[in-house]
Amino acid sequence: MKNLWNDADAEKMVADYAKKGVGRDLALRVYTTRLLGGEPRLVLHGGGNTSCKTKATDLVGDEWDVLCVKGSGWDMAVIEPQGLPAVKMGALLKARALDNLSDEDMVALQRSNLIDPASPNPSVETLLHAFLPHKFVDHTHSTAILAIVDQEDSKALVAKVFGDKMGYVPYIKPGFDLAKVAAEVFDADPSVEGLILDKHGIFTFGDDARQAYDRMIHYVNVAEEYVAKNGKPQAAKAALPAKLARPGDIAPTLRGAVAVARGEGRFDRMISDFRTSDAIVDFINSAKIADYAGRGVSTPDLSIRIKTGPMAVPAPDADKLGEYKAAIRSHVEAFAKNYRAYFETNDALDDVKRTMLDPMPRLTLVPGLGMFGHGRTLKDAKIASDVGEMWIEAVRGAEAIGNFQPLSKSDLFPLEYWSLEQAKLASNKPKPLTGQVVLITGGAGAIGAATAKLFAANGAHAVIVDLDPAKAAEAAKAAGNNSIGVGADITNPAEMRAAFDKAVAVYGGVDILVSNAGAAWEGRIGELDDALLRKSFELNFFAHQSAAQNAVRIMLEQGTGGVLLFNTSKQAVNPGPKFGAYGLPKAATLFLSRQYALDYGAQGIRSNAVNADRIRSGLLTDAMIASRSGARGVSEKEYMSGNLLGQEVTADDVAQAFLHQALAERTTADVTTVDGGNIAAALR
Ligand SMILES: [Zn+2]
Repeated sequence: MKNLWNDADAEKMVADYAKKGVGRDLALRVYTTRLLGGEPRLVLHGGGNTSCKTKATDLVGDEWDVLCVKGSGWDMAVIEPQGLPAVKMGALLKARALDNLSDEDMVALQRSNLIDPASPNPSVETLLHAFLPHKFVDHTHSTAILAIVDQEDSKALVAKVFGDKMGYVPYIKPGFDLAKVAAEVFDADPSVEGLILDKHGIFTFGDDARQAYDRMIHYVNVAEEYVAKNGKPQAAKAALPAKLARPGDIAPTLRGAVAVARGEGRFDRMISDFRTSDAIVDFINSAKIADYAGRGVSTPDLSIRIKTGPMAVPAPDADKLGEYKAAIRSHVEAFAKNYRAYFETNDALDDVKRTMLDPMPRLTLVPGLGMFGHGRTLKDAKIASDVGEMWIEAVRGAEAIGNFQPLSKSDLFPLEYWSLEQAKLASNKPKPLTGQVVLITGGAGAIGAATAKLFAANGAHAVIVDLDPAKAAEAAKAAGNNSIGVGADITNPAEMRAAFDKAVAVYGGVDILVSNAGAAWEGRIGELDDALLRKSFELNFFAHQSAAQNAVRIMLEQGTGGVLLFNTSKQAVNPGPKFGAYGLPKAATLFLSRQYALDYGAQGIRSNAVNADRIRSGLLTDAMIASRSGARGVSEKEYMSGNLLGQEVTADDVAQAFLHQALAERTTADVTTVDGGNIAAALR
């Protein structure tokens, strides 16, 4: 691992932060924290922590000796000075004399000694940093170090690899007890340059930022070199089917299998992030992959991301997909059963009241293909994949020099069910559509874009399909929540299929279809060009059918229901003059919606339609509004609000109707009117 310290960069950061009133110590603390945080083989997504002992002044001008230590919720790669809250050292040092200190009291002690009460919670490893005398202390979960400590006889191996320059600390759950023992190990030999924490990671320290950082990189390199020099060849590979299925062939089934059933056809769904590379596949193809996965996480704080460890499934045979899909479901059931047993066994050991987390895997290893990270959001799913890559690094190293033997599940349990994490559960309420994927055709138009925005704000990830890829991308950006844009001519079945394939590739599946794209052609029906009517049917009927067929195919594989929403327009029930080419296929689409409701209700797939009218959009442009209102001799405003309510109806109003239909879990075969009131178009 390369040492990235650069004098010029360090001094530039000191100078830049000086202008903002941040001192040299804290500026350099930010500098090396970011260097460490930028390397996934050291820390990932909020893992690891750093500190420096310096001085800070409070509001009344009193100067204090403080520990600036990483706050929870901050990522080392992008840390800022406010991510290293200052805690008064005096109180922290006094705590060392206590015999015990609960996690809640430890947090209270740390918070009550903050210089700025608005700071985030100081790290759970704050006391360990405080009890060490050095000005700068760095802590990571280096994969190379984990290869050494995740062994049966790790204590002897640590002595062999690092000699007497590093202290050895047996595994203890992070918190007050670990801090005390680590300080005792240091006191027994103050000449050490760092501490190796069994089954956990490494601390290094120094008088300045550079020394602590240099030592971290040095000892990580010592570990890397040991693994490289002493590694034995990998275990044999498993046999793969002659013809492997593709990730998209199995993703919806897997995504459905890991959804948490809440009963009565309700599910907490997850997003799946597929990740692959030669290195990933090479490792996952090991004949021992299921064994490795069952042994657990390489360092305990990964349990927050991937629970007790990954789930390994067999390689998918393209010629036996039906059997394979059943196998996926039985693997997920077995994983969940084991997880429940792990919870029940360990929970029964004391009287603490705990809430079991859902028992589903967060990382699935698929030989021949790669891995799927699962999470309630795409961000969480990607984090699970990132964690998976580093789990592979650590296990590969550990197996190269011995046998991967991480922390036992019974020792992992108190960490996964740490009381402070449990307390967060109550406040962590998902949005109504969290975990769901909505595909919207005509997604860059007025109604499509408004719908995408509203669904994304309610937690869904939107796949915005539009003829114009640039506009689709723009609408996805405006919608936010990691939504994507896809360019497709949806009257071409291959392009429609490709749009759904993209949704599966990025999120693992689809839960909601908003079949919205449409265009109007005018002409008296008796004189209408036959080709024009057929063209209109292609877009205003057959594209709806094609979208619904694709959605239903994926929904049936997922087995978690779903909802089809069609924009059928007021024309479906109330024809306008010279609008037959538009109204006829829309009427067929209204009927299509009911047919889907009838044919797929038993599988939990709902189907509803919205009858919108007179919405400013690509179908009703400002120029058309001017011309039509002029022809009727009314103002544009009067024309647009010519309904029972006397108010203009907007794309946002249509989006609200789609959202209502998506959320109304017992509503199917429904038609909702969004036209401000038009009695001639009112449904019976
Ligand atoms: Zn740690």
